[in-house]
Amino acid sequence: MIKYLDDVEEIAAYWIGRHFPRPSIALGNETHEKYCSLCGQTNDEISLCTCASRSFAWSRVIRLGAYEPPLSTCVIRGKYSKWYEVLELIGKRLGNRVRGCVPPNAVVVPVPMPYLRRWLRGINHSAVLAKYVAQSAGLQRRNPLLRKETSPQAGMSASERSRLKVSTIYPFPWVNLRGKPIVLVDDVLTTGRTLEVAAKALHSIGASTITVAVAAVTNYEESPKKVISASFTH
Ligand SMILES: [Zn+2]
Repeated sequence: MIKYLDDVEEIAAYWIGRHFPRPSIALGNETHEKYCSLCGQTNDEISLCTCASRSFAWSRVIRLGAYEPPLSTCVIRGKYSKWYEVLELIGKRLGNRVRGCVPPNAVVVPVPMPYLRRWLRGINHSAVLAKYVAQSAGLQRRNPLLRKETSPQAGMSASERSRLKVSTIYPFPWVNLRGKPIVLVDDVLTTGRTLEVAAKALHSIGASTITVAVAAVTNYEESPKKVISASFTH
């Protein structure tokens, strides 16, 4: 059966001109490595995590896996090659992990993308992920945040990223999330600065707790640029 489907897909890809495999094949099986629930780093000894001295704008991180292939390749193809279906699968799997970990009145919120970048890229990956996280976790979804145009962070060093200004992300003036637990969704957690800035904006409009849900977490020691070029095979 699988062989038959592969053949059909091969023929369809030839005629349509698309060469993406099925998302479930590209993404592989789900991994279940242990990770720190505050910083998201892979860690077997949670009680000994090096993040113990850091303070966080969120109370928990839920992730699918570490930022390494095949997950990293799927995230990159999802956002830069507009591979919607793989983002859908990543969002659904992430939503399954979120389900039951947050109160039923929690609201799913994507990290916002500046309009110009969204238009140039043709896909708002965080919004696509958030849609399917909300759907498979059985939660409502809102887009209460806006983001100013700044240069993209991919390729920046960790210290450049950490300078992202708090004023970059701000809420729509009429939005109120008083007392609502929030599930804040993004594709990759690197330094955590973007999520921190978004979390502050959500707290400013009344969010009670913030759970960060990300597809992948990079090793903080690695340069983001190196990680991306190493896994960008498309
Ligand atoms: Zn940690």
